[in-house]
Amino acid sequence: MIIFKTATDLRRHLDKLVSNGKTIGFAPTMGALHQGHLLLVAASKQQCNVSVVSIFVNPTQFNDPKDFEKYPVTIDTDCKLLEEHRVDILFLPSVEEIYPHGIIAKRHYELGELENLLEGKYRPGHFQGVCQVVERLLEIVQPHQLFLGQKDYQQCMVLQKLVALMGASITVSIAPTLREKDGLAMSSRNLRLTKDEREKATAIYQQLVMIKKKFSTEKISVLKQKASENLLQNGFHKIDYVEIASAETLLPVQENDNRSGKAVALVAAFIGDVRLIDNLLLN
Ligand code: AMP
Repeated sequence: MIIFKTATDLRRHLDKLVSNGKTIGFAPTMGALHQGHLLLVAASKQQCNVSVVSIFVNPTQFNDPKDFEKYPVTIDTDCKLLEEHRVDILFLPSVEEIYPHGIIAKRHYELGELENLLEGKYRPGHFQGVCQVVERLLEIVQPHQLFLGQKDYQQCMVLQKLVALMGASITVSIAPTLREKDGLAMSSRNLRLTKDEREKATAIYQQLVMIKKKFSTEKISVLKQKASENLLQNGFHKIDYVEIASAETLLPVQENDNRSGKAVALVAAFIGDVRLIDNLLLN
């Protein structure tokens, strides 16, 4: 694995590979890598000639400065894992390398309703920050394929929109959510859970499964209410949202809507001071 810290060096290397006909797969991450990230790596290795992973904890997407300060950093272990999984290139830039002109955004990305819903509503500015960093990374890496995880469902939709806004011919591939044995979605933030919180955190998945089981028969409002109550009774102390939404638009499913349309249940809730998100396709 070759580690690049500057965009210029990385670009020079990639130019040679692309001129030799190689296809480039790219998985952007914020590090503290786990098996979920490695699923993206595996897909990239299978589908592209050269696999690039970036690790960059992007300051502009954290609406909560404490969340940014506490974001886990495990760079040595990350490098070992990526080596073991035969990643070709790790891009490990500094903040200055990504934002040479400062972190203030130069443009506003037109994300439509996605910006005001769910994560957009509860983390103002988050998706603008995500677009800012991913646009920059895509300009540097210029991949043929971009590998993302369904774990961040709304982010996948936002980034598909970004690729379209950029007019880039990049194929977006979405890997399913990898879970721990008890169903908890793997996440870098899980490292911040105490033993007790970790045990209780599986409640999110259990409630998503409950919603899925009852989706075709139960009232939407009842499902959301039940799931919220169960989370609060099982260790979560604050819920940003429990939503049942169209899998295509993320607009809430209404009671009278046809339940055979593609739908997704999404949750964001706090356990201790850790905010976890998860989602499950319902049909
Ligand atoms: P992050 O490092 O959290 O920014 O995530 C980097 C990429 O890995 C994103 O595309 C995530 O959606 C994806 N990812 C994170 N957790 C999982 C998981 N449990 N299963 C599959 N993909 C994931």
